[in-house]
Amino acid sequence: MRFGFDIDDTLINLREHAFNIYNRKLGKQLGLELFHALKTVEIHEPFGMTSQEGKQMWNSSREEIYYTTCPPYPGAVEMLQELEEQGHEIFYITARDREHGERTKQWLKDNGFPVRDDRFFCGMKDEEKIQTIRQLKLNYYFDDKPAVLNTLSEEPVKLFVKDQTYNQHLNIPRITDWTQWKTHIPLPH
Ligand SMILES: [Mg+2]
Repeated sequence: MRFGFDIDDTLINLREHAFNIYNRKLGKQLGLELFHALKTVEIHEPFGMTSQEGKQMWNSSREEIYYTTCPPYPGAVEMLQELEEQGHEIFYITARDREHGERTKQWLKDNGFPVRDDRFFCGMKDEEKIQTIRQLKLNYYFDDKPAVLNTLSEEPVKLFVKDQTYNQHLNIPRITDWTQWKTHIPLPH
């Protein structure tokens, strides 16, 4: 089977990692309850930033957000390793800019993710992921963003949403805990 995965906030806890970085850089100590109460993908609001300021903060922090110690979600790496061992094909499809492609790939490898160079795709906008997903003829695709998943509802690919506060309205099979993936993903025997 051909499995496609978004990376940020699907396989790794990037927004929370960024929230901690913002706290440190801004000399603040906002509690994680504020993070968990966010209903937006963007995280700037509890820091009192406008969306423009938030965008600037994100862009100027991106090196640190992407390439330091962002934790994978528990069970995510193990799930991918197991799928790979079972002979399934794993594709990564991320909206991260093309200029971050090679380093992101290396970061994933360094953190134990099974990555093949020809199965890693980056640099597309959210609504453009559909082209790649179609071309790859994926059987399964996992993402956190409504803006992506909504474009795929008519496609033959089987969709799953990684549970986040901002995607509660989506009526798609939901993964809250990667350690429980086998109860959610029906694999043919
Ligand atoms: Mg994502």
